[in-house]
Amino acid sequence: MMNRIYLDNAATTAVAPAVLEAMLPYFTEVYGNPSSIHATGRTAHKAVDQARRQVAAAIGAQPQEIYFTAGGSESDNWAIKGTAFARQSKGNHIITSAIEHHAVLHTCAWLEKHGFEVTYLPVDAFGRVDPADVEKAITDKTILISIMAANNEIGTLQPIREIGAIARAHKVLFHTDAVQAVGAIPLDVNELNVDMLSMSGHKFHGPKGIGVLYIRKGVRIDTLIHGGAQERGLRAGTENLPGIVGIGKAIELATANLAENAARMTALRDKLIDGILERIPDVRVNGHRTERLPNNCNVSIRYIEGEAMLLRLDLAGIAGSSGSACTSGSLDPSHVLLAIGLPHEIAHGSLRLTLGTDTTEQDIDAVLDTLPGIVSDLRAMSVLNEHTTTVSGFCPYPGGRKPAGA
Ligand SMILES: *Cc1c(COP(=O)(O)O)cnc(C)c1O
Repeated sequence: MMNRIYLDNAATTAVAPAVLEAMLPYFTEVYGNPSSIHATGRTAHKAVDQARRQVAAAIGAQPQEIYFTAGGSESDNWAIKGTAFARQSKGNHIITSAIEHHAVLHTCAWLEKHGFEVTYLPVDAFGRVDPADVEKAITDKTILISIMAANNEIGTLQPIREIGAIARAHKVLFHTDAVQAVGAIPLDVNELNVDMLSMSGHKFHGPKGIGVLYIRKGVRIDTLIHGGAQERGLRAGTENLPGIVGIGKAIELATANLAENAARMTALRDKLIDGILERIPDVRVNGHRTERLPNNCNVSIRYIEGEAMLLRLDLAGIAGSSGSACTSGSLDPSHVLLAIGLPHEIAHGSLRLTLGTDTTEQDIDAVLDTLPGIVSDLRAMSVLNEHTTTVSGFCPYPGGRKPAGA
């Protein structure tokens, strides 16, 4: 098997060996239910407590403000629906942005069908929300502001601190989807004035299916998952013990090495972006050049289709992702790329390469050696050229089926 280069760490990351090692005993030896009175139950309970402390320490929170969930999507759903239903007597208005993850956008769309009103703030050409727009959108009916800390497609960092201060001044709750930001940039819930924060283990070298919602002490939101009295009665279900141990260890590792990893990845990221711009004509960088996740490279390469590029990269052993999804016969470019003002035909040629803590300079060199040839091959075959203004109706996969793994 050829040496694979994995540059899709925004989609998911590998579990770190130390994280796996920490988890393993909790599948076999320590399998007790943390709610049980007996010794193995108590040992399990202690492990949950330790993970809660590890997560809290990483974001400047207190352990009793940390609630374990089944992942980033559940945390986003809980924060938004839980606030909406707890505060509906105060108001029905929610403010978010046009470039949130679907876990936020689809939750908001669902709430719109149940009597809530949502403002989807625009972003600038770099994908930034203007805090002044947040303030202008607040009405006496506003109960929640939900703005992500870092975008999963283009890596843009939002002015969370400024938005948090505005939310605080207007006494509106502030939630941030920090799924991409945790472990990548420093985050302190008090400095940022954040009331709720979502994270997901598998985005920072922890396991899949485990997440956290931070809920500031004193903030009351409704329960999403009803049942037993776990998580102080707010999130039912027997705890995912190995997952909880894993996310605790993973966040501890990520934050201990944060500055070092961020500096290394930022240098590799810039080498990758600059190298692509130097070697391939008609390319634009999506997102902000500096207010950007250390591991995110997102470019639009004109006159070709992103998924065709992904397939060719995959054959060359390089795993990336694209902002264009060609599914069920319809062309549906990324809502994020459209929101930053890209025309459809440019959004379709986008390529996201996201680095991990294990990405090496040789990996970046290999991409820079491989990608220009793929692009010129595809351009030579392309029906798109400088005279093409739209690609509507053009789909490289007849029948619209998206190739597995793309
Ligand atoms: C991955 C991701 C999610 C969803 O997290 P899951 O744990 O996969 O449910 C939510 N928001 C952002 C920004 C993400 O990148």
